[in-house]
Amino acid sequence: MVVRDAQVVRAMTYVAASDQVMAEVLGVLSRKRPVFAPVPVGNGQYRLEGAAEWEAGRHTVGPYRTVEPLKELVFPPREFLGKLWAEEERNRIEERMVVGVKNCDLSALRIHDYVFRDSDPEDPRYTALRRSTLIVSADCMDCLPVCFCPAVGEQPYPKGGFDINLSRVGEAWLVEAGSEKGDLALAAARDLMEEATAEMVRRRDDARQAMHARVERQARESGLVPGSDFQVAFRKSFESDLWADFAGDCVECGACNFVCGTCHCFMLGDGYAEDNLPARVREWDSCLFRNFARVAGGANPREHRAARLRNRFDKKFNFFVEVLGAPACGGCGRCIEACMGKIDIREVLRRMQDEG
Ligand code: SF4
Ligand code: SF4
Repeated sequence: MVVRDAQVVRAMTYVAASDQVMAEVLGVLSRKRPVFAPVPVGNGQYRLEGAAEWEAGRHTVGPYRTVEPLKELVFPPREFLGKLWAEEERNRIEERMVVGVKNCDLSALRIHDYVFRDSDPEDPRYTALRRSTLIVSADCMDCLPVCFCPAVGEQPYPKGGFDINLSRVGEAWLVEAGSEKGDLALAAARDLMEEATAEMVRRRDDARQAMHARVERQARESGLVPGSDFQVAFRKSFESDLWADFAGDCVECGACNFVCGTCHCFMLGDGYAEDNLPARVREWDSCLFRNFARVAGGANPREHRAARLRNRFDKKFNFFVEVLGAPACGGCGRCIEACMGKIDIREVLRRMQDEG
């Protein structure tokens, strides 16, 4: 880990003096691995797009999170399991890097790690994809109108979980290694950068505080109170009418689950691969779908939509607080943008707050 005090910064934090130098560093890092990075799509949003290597002028670090959640790189929407992922195939997963990951996505990986890697039995496919991914995160430099991370205890910059983190400081970039893997990768580009000074780190921290204050202000303007105990609020509002009120607008499209960086439910299906041999497939599932909890014989413990909507909040703001000490929501606001029923998670949380 990087260790620092007021005056001393160890050699694992560097400065890339300009955008051009930063692009050269990313070019060097991508020589050994394909890259996924934000690409602007012209409506203020950024898509996460892959390429054989870093393409300066097309790829960016991105000012805020992409449309797609990071989870799709380690937990793909649809993947073959039974036939393709024998042990020897798993070992053939190629190294890749993902650039510009923001904290809402990075913190969401804690949930996937808990479910797929750290629980028994471990999912070897997930672990292999996770291990083969070099994560180059970045501080948020701007925010979308739907961002509210400080309201759920997060912040617009990473505190850990990255291999390398990039922070804009004036015209330059602070480049911080957060793991041995990141440090080793940066060694190849070491000659392009200077060692960071304590003054650069101080300026980075000032910029972080300013960004944090901005998103926190936005969260407060939406009616949320940072520091609220949503677990208590959820438990107290369990029998409230609020679930039926919001569920009336839900059309069960599943978009809120699919775009969410923390949602991880899936179903398994058996079919045939392209060569006509039997294959098992894993696909994302949605807890809002009517038959999500249906069991053999047709019984359905969450037959009503209100119960399914409540279950989504139960999992995010009660269960994961219980087992991991933090909600399974990074405040990215993707579900707000995706919901065709115009259900805004901030309004649901606010009503939970009011009734809790
Ligand atoms: S619940 Fe909504 S705001 Fe929270 S992480 Fe998922 S998509 Fe983002
Ligand atoms: S995105 Fe909205 S309409 Fe679609 S399932 Fe989720 S809550 Fe329901």
